[in-house]
Amino acid sequence: MTILDKITQTASNYPDRTAYHTFCPDDLKSGGVGSSLNWKQLDDYSSRLAVYLDRTLTTRKPVVVYGHKNPYMIVCFLACVKSGRAYCPVDISVPSGRLGLIIDEVSPELVLATEELPVHGGNILSLPSVISVIENETETIDKACRVTGDDVFYIIFTSGSTGTPKGVQITCACLDRFLEWASGLGGGFEEGEPCTFLNQAPFSFDLSVMDLYLALYTGGTLWAVDKRVQGDMKLLLKTLWESGAGVWVSTPSFADVCLSDRQFGEKLMPKLKRFLFCGETLTNHTAGRLEAAFPKAEIINTYGPTESTVAVTEVRVTPRINETYNPLPVGKEKKGTWILIVDEEGNELPDGQKGEMVIAGDTVSPGYWKNRKLTEEKFGNREIEGRVYRTYRTGDRGYRRDGLLFYCGRMDLQVKLHGYRIEIEDIESNLMKLPQVRQAAVVPVMKDGKARSLTAYVAVKGTAGEAVWNSFAAAQEIRGLLRQYLPEYMIPKKIVFLDSLPMTANGKADRKALGGNGS
Ligand code: AMP
Repeated sequence: MTILDKITQTASNYPDRTAYHTFCPDDLKSGGVGSSLNWKQLDDYSSRLAVYLDRTLTTRKPVVVYGHKNPYMIVCFLACVKSGRAYCPVDISVPSGRLGLIIDEVSPELVLATEELPVHGGNILSLPSVISVIENETETIDKACRVTGDDVFYIIFTSGSTGTPKGVQITCACLDRFLEWASGLGGGFEEGEPCTFLNQAPFSFDLSVMDLYLALYTGGTLWAVDKRVQGDMKLLLKTLWESGAGVWVSTPSFADVCLSDRQFGEKLMPKLKRFLFCGETLTNHTAGRLEAAFPKAEIINTYGPTESTVAVTEVRVTPRINETYNPLPVGKEKKGTWILIVDEEGNELPDGQKGEMVIAGDTVSPGYWKNRKLTEEKFGNREIEGRVYRTYRTGDRGYRRDGLLFYCGRMDLQVKLHGYRIEIEDIESNLMKLPQVRQAAVVPVMKDGKARSLTAYVAVKGTAGEAVWNSFAAAQEIRGLLRQYLPEYMIPKKIVFLDSLPMTANGKADRKALGGNGS
């Protein structure tokens, strides 16, 4: 059964069950408890909005959906796919300059905005209009309009090394194959017994697909944690307690943030039975602390890039696994996926040898939105067991041991910082856009194998001199200018001004000399 069929089925079987809940600091001020949607509302509202989209839009172009955790975000996503259009989610953490680039790339016929849009122009339907459309619409969308099979379901933009984000297209079939597998993770989920899934990641990151669509696929509830709540430990603990969540989905970094408070444990979240991690290295230390704080919950490490629909491997990190392996494994491939470890020529390597992880399988994206060159570079096809599957060259280094896959770093300059995927060159290109900057190199500061912060080395134009440019104020100015183009997590914590950057023999910035890994 497809995700959209499942949603209709749950809405008809359990109309009053809560499908979505969120809470933000403003709710406290107004004495409210947050905003929710039940399953009937979710299904009805999205169908009515889909009728409007079908009636008013003249093309099948993707629709950009802008906002944060407002319940209508989900209504908009589903309305798009019910009307036969892919959606492209953009979170409020994306600054206006970058949002503009994404909108230019997608060139949507319509932007649905559940928060005030910081850019002008184009055809925009703001939240009050979305609500009014839903209230006044009497018809409901024909099932035949929906996206199916190889139609694109969503496009998620991720950091691109050119300085422009790249849009990963995920089809309906990819999402369905992912959900068939992910809904069986750990002990699986009972349809009659609703489970609450915690959502931490913004909807513009594919990790959120894991919680959002697992909640919808299994007929549960999504409990979304607003970023302002995530930034306030007292409110965060309050919402974690109130959530009654059974499944935790986040990056390990977010679990580390929560573990910094001693209240975070079984007593705070007594129903929590499963942690699903993805997106970055789960360290032995974090797994060990979680085992101690939640002795009854299972910890599952999953691995995968946005390009292969969230995750393609899994392993339950038991205390025995945690004692046996350092680093922890990322596990075994899901059914319908094969990970090949290959050398630079693309030859498969034997177990134990490190090489690039190439994913082949039924959840690999058809490619990047409007970027044939990069798609041809990274994606391909391969026949396995008599069927042709899409392949994706991840740029991740890994190896296989004891039948388990292990991730051991990147082959390029991509890093994960606090769970966010960042191409270092993306920051450098944006630094180079600034009129003051002549040369720029960004280097991650590593600790225990994880990037902890970013340092930018910058040489400025002209003869402004050290006295001016070595100052704190100058670093603040550069950071301020960068914020027009880059989200906060990509802004280097430290900016070091140099007269000129050290160079390698082939004329590139010498990252090793600057303390980086030089690749
Ligand atoms: P994203 O597309 O944001 O999900 O980022 C994908 C990248 O995150 C992968 O290519 C890996 O480099 C990294 N990654 C994902 N899952 C894991 C994991 N379980 N352990 C280590 N790195 C991971």
